[in-house]
Amino acid sequence: MKDVSCDRCNAVSSVYLPYSKIHLCRAHFFELIERRFRATVRENKLIQKGDRIAVGLSGGKDSTVLLHLLASLRKSLPFELVAITVDEGIAGYRAPTLAVAKREAKKLKVKHAVVSFKNEAGRTLDRLLKDNQDALPCSYCGVIRRQLLNKAARKLGADKIAIGHNLDDVAQTVFMNLMRNEPLRLVRFGEPLVEDEAFISRIRPLMRIPEREIAMYAMLKGIHIDFRECPYAHSALRQDVRGMLNDLEEKHPGTKYKIFNSFTLMHAWMRKGIGETGFKLAKCADCGEPFSGKGKLCMYCMMVGGSKKK
Ligand code: SF4
Repeated sequence: MKDVSCDRCNAVSSVYLPYSKIHLCRAHFFELIERRFRATVRENKLIQKGDRIAVGLSGGKDSTVLLHLLASLRKSLPFELVAITVDEGIAGYRAPTLAVAKREAKKLKVKHAVVSFKNEAGRTLDRLLKDNQDALPCSYCGVIRRQLLNKAARKLGADKIAIGHNLDDVAQTVFMNLMRNEPLRLVRFGEPLVEDEAFISRIRPLMRIPEREIAMYAMLKGIHIDFRECPYAHSALRQDVRGMLNDLEEKHPGTKYKIFNSFTLMHAWMRKGIGETGFKLAKCADCGEPFSGKGKLCMYCMMVGGSKKK
């Protein structure tokens, strides 16, 4: 098969981007990804000089690429970088990705903390799910992971938590919240409207980069990543939405970007509509952690049976 040339130079193309109909060589593809990442950080003022940023480092492709991009951003924008891995305790899945997280943090000389469901919540996710047969794995996992990540980031003195959510994740989140009739969750997406010093806000520097391109970036850069999938992923609504959006993207290239751009615009309108005091974070009567919801207890305490370990 004849080699196709890069649309920006004469080198052989490595990547084709169907939504913009361009072929790119490795160097121009790297430049594109890094430019999009830096523009997202700059235009959304995600990181300020001197900030301490904690990366939620699962060891999967997104968070590992994010760690590399943030580490290299420090050359032009001085800030501190630390990494946190939450070990959910998923047999056959978390151990290899944890090994990647440890290796990459070490390679980039980034301080790395590991917190586990077992130590913090008293049980691994596998155990929690065995004890609660009706529990939806990702709902449990998400609530506990968010809480542990927030606590660990606060302990490390982080100003913000950087998570590896990519364009696909954002488009999926928009759809899932519409399907669940949870528009308030969409309003709450991004920075909290009301500051709470116990809550470390989250930033998503990869939100304008498609998942497929992050995977290609990792492979072409030679970042060795474990691509295995969580054994519970198949049961999640996200997985169905992911498949649907991938089909749509294939038939109508650019769909994910259009969803993202429409959401960004609507998000600003929704926030204006709800006003500055639209929602406040409550404090859990048991663990004292901030949460957004009604009642006295946060979801974490309801799921793990209170702040005391089992
Ligand atoms: Fe947790 Fe679900 Fe992700 Fe598995 S797929 S790590 S259970 S959120």
